[in-house]
Amino acid sequence: MSKFWSPLVAGLKPYVAGEQPRIANLIKLNTNENPYGPSPKALAAIREAADDRMRLYPDPSSLRLRQAIATRHGVEVDEVFVGNGSDEVLAHVFQALLKHDAPLLFPDISYSFYPVYAGLFGIETIHVPLDEGFRIRIEDYDQPCGAIVIPNPNAPTGIALSLEEIEALAGAHPDQPVVIDEAYVDFGADSAIGLTRRYPNLLVVHTLSKSRSLAGLRVGFAIGQRPLIEALERVKDSFNSYPIDRLAEAGATAAIEDEAWFDETRRKVMASRARMTDVLAARGFEVLPSLANFVFARHPDHDGAELAARLRAEAVLVRHFAKPRIGDFLRISIGTEAECDRLIEAVDSALSN
Ligand SMILES: *Cc1c(COP(=O)(O)O)cnc(C)c1O
Repeated sequence: MSKFWSPLVAGLKPYVAGEQPRIANLIKLNTNENPYGPSPKALAAIREAADDRMRLYPDPSSLRLRQAIATRHGVEVDEVFVGNGSDEVLAHVFQALLKHDAPLLFPDISYSFYPVYAGLFGIETIHVPLDEGFRIRIEDYDQPCGAIVIPNPNAPTGIALSLEEIEALAGAHPDQPVVIDEAYVDFGADSAIGLTRRYPNLLVVHTLSKSRSLAGLRVGFAIGQRPLIEALERVKDSFNSYPIDRLAEAGATAAIEDEAWFDETRRKVMASRARMTDVLAARGFEVLPSLANFVFARHPDHDGAELAARLRAEAVLVRHFAKPRIGDFLRISIGTEAECDRLIEAVDSALSN
C-alpha cells in the first residue's frame, strides 16, 4: 500500500501464477505447459525472423498469422482476433463484451483469472456452483445475466461439456455474449468454433501455450462473428496496437501450419493422461475424467496441501489450490513418459510416509 497508488490498484486481487522455481532436476507439472517442445518449424521461423527487420514495428493487424488461423479453422480472416497470450485476449473480451449492467456468470470452480479481470474492470459476477461431480450444469445458467464465460474443458477439473451442451447454452442466451475458453480443447474435447457461424453471440478463445507448446511466445486468439471481433479490435487499438511482435507472428504462424507436429504431440499427451489416470486410480485416488493436459485428483486419506508439499520435497511440483471444495485436489500436468514415471515414484513415496 502506498499513497501513490490509485484506489483501483489498492483494491486489486491479482492472479497468482503457478511457481516457476529454480530447483535442480525438478519435475515441473504445475502450470500445464506442454512437455514436448514447440514445432521445430516454429523455432526455425523465429530464428529466421530475428534479423535487421526487428528495428521495424510488426504488422499491427498480424494478417499473416490471422490468415493461417482462419485457414486452419475454416473461417474468414476478419473473424479472427489475435493477442499477446489468450490472457490478453480474455482481458479485452472482459472489457469489450462481458461488462454489462447485469452480472457475468462463470463457474465457481474455474480459471482463477476470471474473477481477477472482473475486479480489474469493475464487472459484477455470479459464481455458478459446479454440481456434486464437479460438472458444469448448463441449466444453472438459465438466469438473468449480462454475459457468460466458461472454459471447455473446464480448468482445473479437466471435465468437458459436449458440443450439444455448448450449442444449447448459446441458443438459450441469444441476447448475451457467450464466451468459450478452449485453452485445452485440443486434448480431446470438441471445439465450438464451427458453431460461431450460426450463433452471433458465441466467441471461442484459444491459446498457443498448451497444445502448440508455445507458452513462452505469448500468442492467443479468438474466433467469432464480425461484430464481436470488431469490439475486441476497438479495445486493442485503444490499448496496444502491436501486441504480436515479429518473432511471435513468425513462430505462431509456422506452429499453426505444422499439423503433423501438433497431432503427434497431443496424441502422446493424451496417451500419458490415460496411463496417469489408471495409475493414480490404482493407488486410491479419485481422478476426475479429464480431457485436458492435466488430471485433477484427490486421495481419500491425504490432505491436498500436505501431499503437494511431500511431492515438492521429492522435487516434483504440482498445483494445489487452497480453495473451498477443491482443497484436497492436486492438479497434475501431463509430462513426458519419463516425467510421469518420476511423478509415480514420488506419489508412492509420499503416500507411504
Ligand atoms: C492457460 C490458460 C489460459 C491462458 O493462456 P495464455 O495464452 O498462456 O495466456 C487461458 N485460459 C485458461 C483456462 C488457461 O488454462
